[in-house]
Amino acid sequence: MLIWQNERYRLFQIKCWGYNCYLLKCGENNILIDTGLKWVRGMLRRRLRRLNIDTLAAVVLTHYHSDHAGNAAYIAREFGCPVYASPEFADWLRRGECQMPRSNSVSAWIVNRLSRGFGFIHWDCFDPIEDVWNIEELLAMGMLGDGAEVRALTAHTDDSICLVIDKSAAIVGDAFVYYPPLGNVMLPWADHPERIADSWRELLNWGCGVYCQGHGTPVSQKVLAKVVRKLG
Ligand SMILES: [Zn+2]
Repeated sequence: MLIWQNERYRLFQIKCWGYNCYLLKCGENNILIDTGLKWVRGMLRRRLRRLNIDTLAAVVLTHYHSDHAGNAAYIAREFGCPVYASPEFADWLRRGECQMPRSNSVSAWIVNRLSRGFGFIHWDCFDPIEDVWNIEELLAMGMLGDGAEVRALTAHTDDSICLVIDKSAAIVGDAFVYYPPLGNVMLPWADHPERIADSWRELLNWGCGVYCQGHGTPVSQKVLAKVVRKLG
């Protein structure tokens, strides 16, 4: 689904059950941002086919969690393209491992316990990604055009990055989640819960029209502004 475009870029949301991946088209270059958990692999592949994507210039990971990095190795193999991420946890990505969020929320605790307790649920591991390149190199090569910026936002994980396109659209990973039926923007899992409020203020300061996150429905600046106002 096309969710934002201007004269230089087109941004598509690719919904794979509860996981959002994004496809950024910049000239001839197709960039896939995030890849979902391993079990949505077939769906991701079908959705890419439906968008007539035959080639990918790169895969970008917003952070190292398995529900974002889960199919990166597979997609990189299938399309013969490199994977880019923050260098912070690149070694974890190369090993195909992540740590569950250190959040004190009940839901994070339950998933952590399930992950350790049952062999068939693997939240903390995924196919190892042989080569992980620094996201700054992708920018330096000009593959994203000159309207793209990478900004760190580390409430969720220390390696979390956002892609800001032409100061208008931001792809923000798990900086927040938003499910309209629940009516609020939230971030239930975070390694640094104390940084959440400031990170949302920062997001709003970027002044983008749309914020595209990993779970739920992308939000407008208006919705985010309402949340930030409530923070005081
Ligand atoms: Zn995450």
